[in-house]
Order: sequence, then structure tokens, then C-alpha cells
Amino acid sequence: MRPAMVNGVEHVKQPRLGEFDIIARYFAPLATTSASLGLRDDAAILPVPAGEELVATCDTIVEGVHFLSDDPPASIGHKVLAVNLSDLAAKGAAPHAYLLSLSLREAAPDWLEGFALGLGTLQASSGIALIGGDTTATPGPVTIGITALGLVPKGKAVLRSGAKPGDRLYVSCTIGDAHLGLRLRQDPRLAEVWELTPQEAALLIERYQQPEPRSRIALLLRQWAHAAIDVSDGLVGDIEKLCMASCAGAIIDADRVPLASAARKALARDKRLFEALITGGDDYEIVAAIPEGSAATFEAGALERQVSVTAIGKIVAGDPQVTVLDREGRALKLAHKGFAHFEDSA
Ligand code: ADP
Ligand code: MG
Repeated sequence: MRPAMVNGVEHVKQPRLGEFDIIARYFAPLATTSASLGLRDDAAILPVPAGEELVATCDTIVEGVHFLSDDPPASIGHKVLAVNLSDLAAKGAAPHAYLLSLSLREAAPDWLEGFALGLGTLQASSGIALIGGDTTATPGPVTIGITALGLVPKGKAVLRSGAKPGDRLYVSCTIGDAHLGLRLRQDPRLAEVWELTPQEAALLIERYQQPEPRSRIALLLRQWAHAAIDVSDGLVGDIEKLCMASCAGAIIDADRVPLASAARKALARDKRLFEALITGGDDYEIVAAIPEGSAATFEAGALERQVSVTAIGKIVAGDPQVTVLDREGRALKLAHKGFAHFEDSA
């Protein structure tokens, strides 16, 4: 390309990136399976191995709703894939392939590079491959959707239905960190109010920006879980969804809900935060109903896979309600249970 002269200095004018340049430069390198046809055809052609079935899920993240405009682009790429991998994990499915729908206001090379890096890093560690998508310009907020496909042996997917009275309810890792991370992004002064070290605040923000999908326990869920759900809209509300699908109730011990040490510190400064921790969104942890007789094996398997799991309560017969008990055995009165779009609270 011919260099342009500006103020006597030679400048190589950056070519404007078009839709097809974006696909070829940033996304074709992520199309690591032949099913993608190199992102050079109208669609991907995907064989399904004999004896297996596809688990399909689609989650979209929107600027200002699920991520903030100035979040690092790599974390946005990570997050959009992570939230979809979390759904696959909850169904006991192995990550297989995904499609990416990207609506951007502008084609900024730095942003696209970071975004593709975040996507590619998580893709590589989870064993999933990009097979297609769509790229459009939009005047509105940046909107990024992924359709993810996983594989399970026929009939072996873990559903929300199937939990039985007496099952233990387990949750992976810790709850509420991402909610606090979002609050810190919105108001950094809260770090002082909650007396957090910069490292603790950074950890909570990272949990909001870069959730880790619990893919490592997908196989265990398939082996041992009667039912499971990905916790994305608040622990209590999402357990209630599992209860509704399973036509049963649940009792949770508030004291047993696993909290990160930074969250415990914040809670020590402001007791009212507890309700927000167990009803706030963005955890991307997994709740599983495990029959009592398999609980020890499930726990050992999770430990082996370096995913902590904590028994927080049990499934009970009765209405599909979630009761959260405090230390004295009294039911907490929760103003709302989780997040739902188009509502202030659910
Ligand atoms: P169509 O005209 O049929 O919508 P496109 O020209 O939009 O097809 O896309 C060409 C190819 O590039 C297709 O294989 C499509 O799946 C792929 N593609 C487009 N955008 C993306 C993206 N953001 N990520 C991955 N693949 C993409
Ligand atoms: Mg298209």
C-alpha cells in the first residue's frame, strides 16, 4: 500500500477493516476443526459421533448489561464463551463446537485482537472449536451471542428435572463474588467500605469479568447427578427453577453457602449483603442434586478434578419452594430471589 505523507512524515494509512477482513483475520484462526470449512462457506457441516447427541445452548452478552464498555476486550471474549460452557457443563456435556454472533459499533483492531485472544485462550483450554457465526455493524450497544454445542452419550444429559427428596444439593466453588465484583466496578470506593485489599477487590472483579466454567465436573454430573443447573441469575432463584422442574422443594442452610474470603470480609462490614450474595447474578457456578449414596464419590471426584463442591442443603418433598434457614433454623425473608430481564426483581 502506498504510504501517505502527513506533516512531512510517512504514515502507512491503516486499511479499514470490513466484515470479511474481520472474519479472516480474527476468527478463521479459531476455526480449528474441518467442520468450520475454514469459515469460507455459508454454514458449517457437523458430523455427530454415533451413539452421541448434541446439547445446544445460546447465551448473549450485551454491553452495559453483562459487561461494561471499558472491560478489557480479552475478558469480554472469555466471558461470552464461559457463560455458554457453563450451560454445557451443567448438562454434563463435553464442549464440542460453537458459533459466534457479533454486533459491533466499529471495527477497532485492538479491541478485536483482545477479544479474539480471550476467546481463543478459553477455547484452547476447553477443547471447543469455532465453526461459524455472523458479523454485523450496529448503532446500539455491542451485543455478542454464542451458540455452543456439546456432546453427551444418548440419553445421558443431566436435566433440571429429576431431583428427588433426600438428594443433597451441592454448589461448586463460591457464590456472590461476581455480584460484589460488579458493585466494585460500578463504585470503586466500596473497596474501602468493605476494607478489602487491592488484591481482594481485583479478585472479585475478575470473578465478574472472567467467570471460570466448571467443565471439569461435567462428567461427574453425568455419572452422579439426578439434576443440575447453571447458576447465572442468583443462587436462590436458580435453585427454585431446578425445584420447579423437579416438582420438589429445597432447604438451604445459609451458613453453608460457600463464600470467598473477600466476600466474607465484605459481609462482616455489611451484614445486609448476604441476601445480595445469594440472589445476585453472574456466578456461573453449578448446583447439582446428588443422591445421598453417591455424595462421597461425587465429592472425591470433584476434589480430584480440583473443583471445590459444598453441600448446602437438600431436596425435600412438597411445593417447589426454596427455604433458606439461618443458624437458628429460622427461614430468611428474601425480598427477591434472583435476576430476570424485564423485571426489577424476580
Ligand atoms: P452469510 O452471508 O450466509 O450470512 P457470511 O458471509 O455472514 O455468511 O459468513 C461467511 C462465513 O463466515 C460463514 O461460514 C459464517 O459462519 C462465518 N462467520 C461470519 N461471522 C463470523 C463470526 N463472527 N465468527 C465466526 N464465523 C463467522
Ligand atoms: Mg452473515
